[in-house]
Amino acid sequence: MANRKYIVGNWKMNGLRAQLSDIADIAELAESHKDVDVAICPPVTLIAQATDKAPGFMIGAQDCHFANNGAHTGCLSAEMIGEAGAKLTILGHSERRTDQHETDAEVKAKAQAAHAAGLGAIICVGETEQERDAGKAIDVVCGQLEGSFPDNADAAWLTIAYEPVWAIGTGRVPEVSDVEEMHAAIRTKLTELMGKGAGAVRILYGGSMNGANAAQLLAVSNVDGGLVGGASLTAEKFGPIIKAAAEA
Ligand code: PEP
Repeated sequence: MANRKYIVGNWKMNGLRAQLSDIADIAELAESHKDVDVAICPPVTLIAQATDKAPGFMIGAQDCHFANNGAHTGCLSAEMIGEAGAKLTILGHSERRTDQHETDAEVKAKAQAAHAAGLGAIICVGETEQERDAGKAIDVVCGQLEGSFPDNADAAWLTIAYEPVWAIGTGRVPEVSDVEEMHAAIRTKLTELMGKGAGAVRILYGGSMNGANAAQLLAVSNVDGGLVGGASLTAEKFGPIIKAAAEA
């Protein structure tokens, strides 16, 4: 049986109070597509206000610390973002793996912390263009998955996002056959790591998904949804992706 589709918007470092109305518009769209799970991950500063503005709509964060509390200036624990209203968090996004030098071991610890705080976790994996050109994409992605994989993983709270680094924010999208091959490899790796519960873990595709290409990407075997950056910032752009998921 196919997994329920999951469409998640990653607002990155975009969004001030004025954009809360976009979240309300997106929440309204999600309400009319109840067969799809939809979430927006705005900057942390908007989480509490977004949950007030769109009660019942799924709001997430873009990161959390692996510790519960302590001397970590500028960081936020999973419990803190949960208290603000987040129901999930993105972890190990390639921008954080690059800019903040996050390691697989840290991503794993963060996922465990997120779960302990009652949050869903979306672990991002993906190869660089250089790694793809060298024929190493599957090895790199499966290696990241294994290294970042939390103990006691369960589809009830864990999601994987395959995001080729070279496709993020570039308007470039891999061939459908490459997406299919990678998602199948991730499914096989998940089965190796967690056994028969692996089939229910949703694997999202991310990287320049938009209203024009979503239907094609979401129809690919083992693509259970999308992690969307630029095209998630307004209901006008995000709406066609939610609709495509509902029709997939
Ligand atoms: C992302 O950063 O997770 C992403 C997929 O971005 P974009 O959709 O803008 O490529």
